[in-house]
Amino acid sequence: MRGKKVVVLTGAGISAESGIKTFRDNDGLWENYRIEDVATPQAWQADPELVWKFYQARRRQMKEVGPNPAHEALARLESELDDFTLITQNVDDLHERGGSLSIIHMHGRLETLRCEKSGQIEVRMSDEDLEDDFLFCNCCAESSRVRPDIVWFGEMPMQMDEIYDAIGSCDVFIVVGSSGHVYPAAGLASAARLAGAQTILVNFEMPINGYDFDEVHLGKAGEILPKLVEKWLAE
Ligand code: NAD
Repeated sequence: MRGKKVVVLTGAGISAESGIKTFRDNDGLWENYRIEDVATPQAWQADPELVWKFYQARRRQMKEVGPNPAHEALARLESELDDFTLITQNVDDLHERGGSLSIIHMHGRLETLRCEKSGQIEVRMSDEDLEDDFLFCNCCAESSRVRPDIVWFGEMPMQMDEIYDAIGSCDVFIVVGSSGHVYPAAGLASAARLAGAQTILVNFEMPINGYDFDEVHLGKAGEILPKLVEKWLAE
């Protein structure tokens, strides 16, 4: 791994052992909700209160959990490699708290809120910012309502140019904890492979895009990844 250009993509599975529910597993986050009701621009238009309360609950939960050994292993990999890019589909801040310094949050972040009028984002995580009432921005002359700074289904993921640049030129592409259902993230493994990269998967079970990987490690990321990182760094 040393001397190579390495890109890592993480999904909800890396935060599962921290206590944040995944998206599609049996007891997943979305079990009690329909995607269309809480994670689309149409839902925000139709029932902003339901959407707001859903994300405020996620934001409160984030304060109660901490990073696990898989987040920490990726921070160690970043600190040891010269050319390393971490892309996450996760909206939590566990990579930051696990010690990663540079993270592309392609689906947005829970920590920040976005002004509906100006589009400006601010970190809003104080106790008053975590209640169920709508919040208003500090950026406009006439304060406007803020929305979750989340990429909803039907919206364009963030920093895609940067992501495709990294994927197109990497030597190794590693995916951790992602079911391969949500595009464009799910297409990155095949894009990396087409561009000549070695593709590696760490996931609890075989995802639907399992055939895109040269090397597959099935099991819990918190148990497997620290050992793999040690092995990769020793090679
Ligand atoms: P997903 O829920 O669709 O898939 C998670 C994958 O992780 C599954 O294949 C599962 O088998 C695997 N997994 C579960 N526990 C694991 C563990 N301990 N170790 C390794 N793998 C494990 O998630 P996704 O592919 O990231 O796509 C879902 C979307 O939902 C993303 O867009 C993401 O933004 C969002 N989401 C984010 C969070 C978060 O920020 N923590 C949580 C839920 C959903």
